[in-house]
Formats: sequence, C-alpha cells, structure tokens
Amino acid sequence: MALVVQKYGGTSVGSVERIRNVARRVAKTYDDGNDVVVVVSAMSGETNKLVSLANEMCDFPSEREFDVLVATGEQVTISLLAMCLQSMGYQAKSYLGSQIPIITDSDFTRARIERIGDKKIREDLKNGTIIVVAGFQGVDRDGNVTTLGRGGSDTSAVAVAAALKADVCEIFTDVDGVYTTDPRIVPEAAKIEKISYDEMLEMASLGAKVLQTRSVEFAKKYGVDVHVRSSFNDNPGTLVTKEDEDMETVLVSGITYNKDESKISVLRVPDKPGIASALFSPLSAAGITVDMIIQNVSTDGSTDLTFTVPRGDFKKALKTVEETAREIGAAGVNSDEHIAKISIVGVGMRSHSGVASKMFQVLAAEGINIQMISTSEIKISCVIDAKYTELAVRVLHEAFELAKKDIKAE
Ligand code: ASP
Ligand code: MG
Repeated sequence: MALVVQKYGGTSVGSVERIRNVARRVAKTYDDGNDVVVVVSAMSGETNKLVSLANEMCDFPSEREFDVLVATGEQVTISLLAMCLQSMGYQAKSYLGSQIPIITDSDFTRARIERIGDKKIREDLKNGTIIVVAGFQGVDRDGNVTTLGRGGSDTSAVAVAAALKADVCEIFTDVDGVYTTDPRIVPEAAKIEKISYDEMLEMASLGAKVLQTRSVEFAKKYGVDVHVRSSFNDNPGTLVTKEDEDMETVLVSGITYNKDESKISVLRVPDKPGIASALFSPLSAAGITVDMIIQNVSTDGSTDLTFTVPRGDFKKALKTVEETAREIGAAGVNSDEHIAKISIVGVGMRSHSGVASKMFQVLAAEGINIQMISTSEIKISCVIDAKYTELAVRVLHEAFELAKKDIKAE
C-alpha cells in the first residue's frame, strides 16, 4: 500500500463533469489499495476573475485582502470534489490550507511554506478517508490567509507530499507531460520520460509552463519524485527526479522560449565604481527583477550596459532607468520590447563541449542575429528579435535531434 498525493489543475476541475472524472480517478487510486491525498486548484479562469474583481474595486488592493479574495477559488473545488466522492460512497473530507494547517510566512501573494501539520491528515487516512486539500493557500502564524503565487497549487502538492513522505506526487494537468519543446511550434516535439530537477528548474523558469518553479525547488530539496501527467488519459507522463547517468548522455533535453521580456540599454555610462548599483538599486526597490545583464569593456572611460526585464514591468523600468541615466550622466537610453529569449537546457552540457557553438551556428545559418547571450552549467540562452522565435525553436529542435524517435528519418 502506497501513499499517493495527486494534484489536479484548473482545467482538470473546470466543470462539474470534469470534477466527476477527477473523483473517478481518485476513487480508482483508492480502490487499488492506496492512501490518497488530493490537492486541487480553482476551476480554470476563476482565479483570473477574482484578480480582476480586486483590480476593479481599487487601484492598489491591500495584499492581505487580495489573498483573502483569491484563495476562495479553491474552496469551491475542494468541497465539490469531496461531495462527489461521498456521493460515490467514499469517505472524503475537504481541508482549507488553514485547517491542515499549511503554515507560511506573511509575504502575502507570494508566501513561502514553512511547515505543514500532518496530524489530522494521518488520523483521517488511518480510518480510510480520502483527503482533499485546497492548493495555492496557507495561513501565517497570526492566522492570516496567504497565497503562494500564481500556479502555487503545484507547490502545495509537492510540499504536502514532502511532509507526508508520500511515495509519489502526481501532478495531473491538461498536457501529457513535459515536452522537448512547445508542440504548438514543433508538432514532432517528444514527451520527455525522465528529467532531472535541475533541468526542470531551468525549463520552468525559462518559460515551460507545466510546473510552478517553486514546486520544483521544493521537490529537489526534499527529493520528492514528481510525475507530471494528463488527467484526460492514462498515458505515462514525465518523471521529474534525481539526476542519473542516463540523463548525462543526452546533450540537450529541451528548448524553451520566453517572449515576456524586454530589453533596455543605457549608453555610454561612466566606467567607475558605483554605477551598476546606482542603476539597479532603484529597479530592485521597485520590485522589478532584472534577468540578463551585459556590460561592454570600456575603451574611452565609458561603457554600454544592456539588460532585460519582464515585459509587464517595461514601462515602469524604463521610466526609472531614464531618471537614473540623467543623474549619472549617461548619453542616453535605448529599448526594445520585441525580443525573445531562446534557451537550450541539458545536464549533458556539463560534460560535453561544443553545444554553445552549435547553437550559434544554427541561428547564424538562418540569418538570426544574437543580441545577448547568457549561460549556466546546464543552459544557454540567446536573446533574438521576437519575430524569429518560432523559426529559432524549430531549427534548434531539429539540429539537436529532439524529435520523436519513431518518426525521425533514418
Ligand atoms: N488557482 C491558482 C492560480 O490560478 C493556483 C493554481 O492554479 O495553481 O494561479
Ligand atoms: Mg498550474
């Protein structure tokens, strides 16, 4: 008998009929002799609706009240799922984050889980009850409702699995697993059977939307095996797990792209201590995360500095940077909103050379100019003109031979 944690995302619980399907799958897992803890998201679209309501009400809703509001989406789905299971003859019980409790810090809208009480869950499981937990939410030490950031139910599920030392954490979603790239761009993209935590972390933070990045950090920290699979069929999905030797034989595991960034260049800033700090401190004070940064060598005592920020923060960032640029005596500021970041990811890069140069060659052969480059041990990212995104993804996918094996020409 195993302890299974299953998480169902918004599309999987998007209607009463779909919740019934989820209940059948949960019941089957239980009937197979497992203890089952289910974590659910709000019905698809519901959290967005709640967010718009808050923004309609006032320009700057307090984050505490915002969390009280957006946490309600999951209260609907836990109760519906528990009712459905009961009507099928099973013992089931729903729990809000505060009832478990899932204790978090007080950083509203992006709280971090600190501790999970497992006493009630263990007692319920012992008497054969199926537990249904609200994802995305927790409670701080003062009893305030908190939420974990958009997509946070993944993190709730992995954290519950870690706390209970579950045998597996299954994340049910509307795709079959993690793909070598976006199948909407490359129909031959292959499902990845097994991927390491580090690769998945890079893929998630670089734009693959299947798992919340924080859930992968959690899984890695506590060694939770995460199985990402579809709630609409029985196909095996992708296992996110510890790195093993097989994984290193693959040069590149996946290709991701991100069109949600924009680029800002500050021209001819004086090349002296304190300049980078003068530029970036106001940005971080404004809560803007800077991603790639490039600074040129200076030939005449001044240098150009280029960096990327999320597209949503572009206007705010530009205004801040223009002010600082004047103060520090830079020659001017350029910007470009139409960029894309294309990345290749694979633990095999650690032990193989030539991967970066191959990426550059492939892009050059298509006449695609590389504007910025950044690398880590297991990733290479290039910023290019956004209009070449699809082309770049396709040619790289082909060059690194990532297509499904059965249809690849021999
Ligand atoms: N309902 C929340 C959201 O839409 C949490 C989740 O779905 O994981 O972000
Ligand atoms: Mg999600």
